[in-house]
Amino acid sequence: MRTVYLDNNATTQLAPEVLQAMEPFWTDDFGNPSSSHAKGVRAREAVEESRAAIARNLGVSAEEVVFTSGATESINLALKGAVGAARRTGGGAHIVTSLAEHDAVLESCAALGDEGYATTYLRPDAGGRVTAEQIAAALRPETVLVSIMHVNNELGTAYPLRDIGRVVKEYDPGIVMFSDGVQAFGKIPVDLTQIDLYAFSAHKLHGPKGVGALFVRKGTRLRPLFHGGGQESGIRSGTENVAGIAGFAKAAELACRDMAKNSAHMSALKEAFLSGLRGMSGIAVNSPEDALPTTVSVAFLGREGSAVRDALNKRGIFVSTGSACSSKEPRVSHVLDALPVSDDIKRGSVRFGFSRYTSTEEITATLNALRSL
Ligand code: PLP
Repeated sequence: MRTVYLDNNATTQLAPEVLQAMEPFWTDDFGNPSSSHAKGVRAREAVEESRAAIARNLGVSAEEVVFTSGATESINLALKGAVGAARRTGGGAHIVTSLAEHDAVLESCAALGDEGYATTYLRPDAGGRVTAEQIAAALRPETVLVSIMHVNNELGTAYPLRDIGRVVKEYDPGIVMFSDGVQAFGKIPVDLTQIDLYAFSAHKLHGPKGVGALFVRKGTRLRPLFHGGGQESGIRSGTENVAGIAGFAKAAELACRDMAKNSAHMSALKEAFLSGLRGMSGIAVNSPEDALPTTVSVAFLGREGSAVRDALNKRGIFVSTGSACSSKEPRVSHVLDALPVSDDIKRGSVRFGFSRYTSTEEITATLNALRSL
């Protein structure tokens, strides 16, 4: 059976060029980048060339890119590291975020809550949007950090990062402005003018799993999570994942080079998909009209999203619900749960995620499968 993979927000297929870029570092060039012999020097060169390539694609300087094991680590490092180094710590210090953030942000805020930090969780609108005005209203003299993602992983909603950063910095330039850029980097242009910390991950852009990075604006103070050999300018100790980093750089280069072409391709897929859905009854599209073409969240009214997902799975079409299933009971995802929409929409939602490898035929096959459910 030919399969159709439409779960590209969860992870993506490795690009063949990325596999090729990684291969030497699993075989001949296996040195530790901290060793001073020739094998170590080769590995160090690969890490630094990769850092420079990623920095170039982000429009920042190479010293501002710190490699990690993935975005979850980058996010934990950003939140815990920044508040740990802030002028006001523990009791009374305040964080602003939104209920639409990834669990890595929400659980980090919860953990910081145990240490006495207070968090304001802003409620998004029906399209998952959070505005700069909402952020401005939540800021307080005790605020040390604001965490707002760049693109939402369940809806594809893009946040006005520049405006949000501006209101934060106008209120107090000392507040650290962090953004989770996992679903944005390599897909839309990134402008970090108002941003101090930005997390991203290789496996969402056809790179390998288990490698990510954090942009750390020069002068932003961070308390490390790991202590050890002092790699990554002392911010992230541990031997670098050289092959993963080389693959990450290649993946970023390809994604950024072909961004306009890929975006046009996915926009055409999205339009074809939406036009097919319009001919079906009992459907509501959750993603706002201006969401990224990577993501279409759809509610199948009167049905369980998990039942639609499982029925598609049986036909070889792989999607995910907005739901994360606990052991038995299907649970509505925290993002959908935070939206001011009906329970019917929350329970019936399925996420379709496209990539540059998705074809028009795959969209047609998915629409035909949906019609037959
Ligand atoms: N943030 C967002 C928005 C995501 O979609 C994901 C991945 O699901 C993460 C963070 C975590 O990324 P990683 O898998 O690299 O830890």
